[in-house]
Order: sequence, then structure tokens, then C-alpha cells
Amino acid sequence: MEKDVVVIGGGPAGSSVAREAAKNGSEVLLLEKNNFIGEPVQCAGLLSKRAIDFSKIDRIRDIAINSYRGAIFHPPNEDPIKIKADEKKAFTVDRSIFDRKLVEDAIKEGAEFRVNSSAKKWDGKKLTIRHNGKSKKIEPSVLVSAEGIQRKIAKQAGLKGIKTYLSGVQTTLTNLRLKEEDLNYVELFLGENIAPGFFAWAIPLTQNKARVGLCVKMGEGSAFDYLKSFVKTNPVIKDKYNGKPIKFNFGCIPLGLLDKTVLNNLLVVGDAAGQVKPTSGGGVYPSLVCGKIAGEVASRNITNNLDLEVYEERWREKIGKELEIGWKLNKLFFGLQDKKYDRIFDKINDPEVIKTIEDYGDIDYPSKLFFKLLKNKPSLIKTIGSTYIKQSLKNLFT
Ligand SMILES: Cc1cc2nc3c(=O)[nH]c(=O)nc-3n(C[C@H](O)[C@H](O)[C@H](O)COP(=O)(O)OP(=O)(O)OC[C@H]3O[C@@H](n4cnc5c(N)ncnc54)[C@H](O)[C@@H]3O)c2cc1C
Repeated sequence: MEKDVVVIGGGPAGSSVAREAAKNGSEVLLLEKNNFIGEPVQCAGLLSKRAIDFSKIDRIRDIAINSYRGAIFHPPNEDPIKIKADEKKAFTVDRSIFDRKLVEDAIKEGAEFRVNSSAKKWDGKKLTIRHNGKSKKIEPSVLVSAEGIQRKIAKQAGLKGIKTYLSGVQTTLTNLRLKEEDLNYVELFLGENIAPGFFAWAIPLTQNKARVGLCVKMGEGSAFDYLKSFVKTNPVIKDKYNGKPIKFNFGCIPLGLLDKTVLNNLLVVGDAAGQVKPTSGGGVYPSLVCGKIAGEVASRNITNNLDLEVYEERWREKIGKELEIGWKLNKLFFGLQDKKYDRIFDKINDPEVIKTIEDYGDIDYPSKLFFKLLKNKPSLIKTIGSTYIKQSLKNLFT
């Protein structure tokens, strides 16, 4: 069987590629190894307003569960700091519905979609897939690996670069009694003993329900054990989020970009390419952005012989630099000792700094805020440690 574009993986990255390539007139086959789209959910479902709009899903705001105008940061021992924007900046969605809508849009544009279809082997020309228990080979003009963290085909092609992984776990709690005002804020918790190498979160969905979870850097121990301890011992969680767990989600997040995301006629997109924001672990927005570029380039490669390397150039230009800075910021800010976090938050607790965060904070492009603070409040950034910061700042620009 021959197809113009074969896309492996029915997540946000794959369905965006499929939607865009089909929209541009290509014959597209989208393969998903599981029986259901978007299941099992491995996501907190927190998306920026920008990501929500970029998804172009019809009446997307109707499927949003809640929206947020700010965040409350909890350092290990200092007082919490509330950041409040003028407008709603983020939304929570049910990822299985979100992913399903994206696939439906790809189908509406003309893509063929198959569940129970697992990509097994790529020999550089032919792709072996297993569909409903039977093996068959297909020969795409362009193959796209949007396989998520497993990235079997990208690995077979020898594409490397992922630097580390975060291990994440989240529970959905019910029977809560949150106040109306609580619904406006996502809460983030830092600390060596809370979530070493990253952070924990509480995301209110309704007055009755919230998602509470955390990620730890690979090698730091069991995320599940940290979550159990967090839920049992953290005073804010015990007070506000003391509910009944009804669901657990587990998953890993890759950090660090692949060195190359194009190899002959293979493109790699989304988590499979490490296109994840290292400061938040969010991968949906980069997947949508890079997926759109990949779909368009793949299609124009077929119709106009456009070089597939254009995909690499465009996504690195559009979001790659930001993700690279994000990786350096991750190394700078996560995994600090509690006393260092406390010192940093002590400095942040200044009306001028809070105002800067409120004005420039951007979950998708955190470098804007970092460089603003670096310019206006260098003493805050220096708090992290003068030798370390000097080296890291040098790295940021090299
Ligand atoms: C605990 C946790 C919380 C998170 N919270 C957020 C959040 O709040 N906001 C956010 O933006 N991001 C979040 N993320 C990250 C986000 O879930 C991912 O970055 C995003 O799903 C990446 O999309 P993707 O399409 O690249 O991969 P995926 O969504 O993983 O999709 C890949 C698809 O490919 C399929 N597949 C894999 N191999 C094959 C194969 N060989 N053949 C056929 N199909 C295959 C898989 O079954 C899957 O459906 C979170 C992640 C975790 C673990």
C-alpha cells in the first residue's frame, strides 16, 4: 500500500500533522496502536489560552473544564506568593476529549485513521505495521514519527538527543469543598522532599474536584511515593485538597531536544522529538505548533518537492530556541536545595517583582520573564548562586 504521508501516533502531535497534511491535499494515514484515542490519559490537561486557540478545535472553550487567572507558588518554608493576571491565561481540558477532537478534525480534512495499528519496524523505505493481529508493509513518501515518549521508530532510525526524563503521577480528588475564589488559581509546590528535580501541583477543576500531582527527575525515586507523602503531609493539601482519590495517571516526560528531527523522509514530532517545555513539562502546545509545520512541509514536499529539512529549520526558529533556553532554565531552577528556594522566593516577594511576573509571565515562552527579571532585578537571579549563575548565563547565550 502506498500513501503520501503516514503518521504514527494519534496524540496532539500526530493528529496536528495529519490534519495539516490532509488540509494541504495529501493522502494521509494516521496510525494509533491503542483502541481508544487519548487513553490512558497521561496529562494534567493544563493548557495556555494560546494553545487552546492554536488547536483550532471548534467550540474548544465549551469543553474546557476550568480557567485560571493566576498561580500560587509555595516555596518549601516561606509564605506562598500569589500571581494574578488581568485575564484568564490557562484552561484545563479533558485530554481524552481534546485528543479525540483533534483526530476528528484530521478525519474531516480527509485523513484516514486506524486504531489498533502499531508501527513495528522501519527499514528506511517500508514501514511494517501490525493491524488487528496482522502484519503488513506500507511505503509512505513521508513518514512521521509522533509516537510520544516510546518513539520506537525514531529510536530505530538512530535519532538521539533526549537528555533526561521526568517521572510523573497525578490523582484526581473528589469530595472537596473549595471556595469559588480557589478555582481561579493553579497551585505549585517546590521542595527537595516534595518533588526533587521538578514540582508538585494542585489544579482545581470544580469546587468539588481537583487534580493533584507531581513530577520528579528520573533517578530521584518513585514519583508515586512522593505523591503519597505529599498528600499526607503537605499542610495546604491536607487543608484544602483533602479529598477522595478516584483516579491515578502515570507518565514520563522527555526533556532535551533531538539533535536532528529529519532523516531522509522521516520527520519526528512532539514528545518523540523532545518538543516539551522543560520549565513546565507541557508538551501539547509545542506538539501543535511543530505538528502544523511538519504537516505543511510534508505535503509541500510531495507537491512542490520542498526540502523536508525546512521542517527542522522552521520549528527550531518558531519554538526550538525557546525550548533550548527552557532546558537551561530547568537546570538553573529545579533541583535546588530548600534554603535556596526560600531565599529566591523571599526576593520574589516584592511588589515590583510580582508585577513583572504578572505582566511578563508566559507559560509557553518563559524566557521573556527571565530576561526581564535579569535586566530589572539581577539581584534576584544572582540569589541562585553567583558562580553557578555566571556559568549558566554564559551557557544561555552559547
Ligand atoms: C503526569 C503528566 C502531566 C502532564 N501535564 C501536561 C499539561 O498539563 N499540559 C501539557 O501541555 N502537557 C502535559 N504533559 C505532557 C503531554 O501529555 C505530552 O507532551 C503530549 O501528550 C505530547 O503529545 P504527543 O502527541 O507527542 O504524544 P502522545 O500524546 O504521547 O501521543 C503519542 C501517541 O502515539 C501512540 N503510539 C506510540 N507508539 C506507537 C506505535 N509504534 N504505533 C502506533 N501508535 C503509537 C500512543 O499510543 C499515543 O497515542 C503531561 C505529561 C505527564 C506525564
